[in-house]
Amino acid sequence: MLSCKEAAGLVSKSLDTRLSWRERAALRMHIAICRMCRNYQKQLRAMTKAVRKSSAEAWLPPLRLSEEAKQRILRHFRSER
Ligand SMILES: [Zn+2]
Repeated sequence: MLSCKEAAGLVSKSLDTRLSWRERAALRMHIAICRMCRNYQKQLRAMTKAVRKSSAEAWLPPLRLSEEAKQRILRHFRSER
């Protein structure tokens, strides 16, 4: 059986690389009986998701619009009013 420290190590490792089935099985077993590590995994996953999302947005190329496209958008907004 994993200790909490080992389980936490596997949780953070699982975010970077794929765990072997043996590691996954051990982690799952520990998570099933240990609420603390379950919460830890949940929090870490939520955090990673948020970070990935914001870095994906940061990586988007800056929006470059041609003058023509800008005018078209402006016209569109004006016609909505
Ligand atoms: Zn634990």
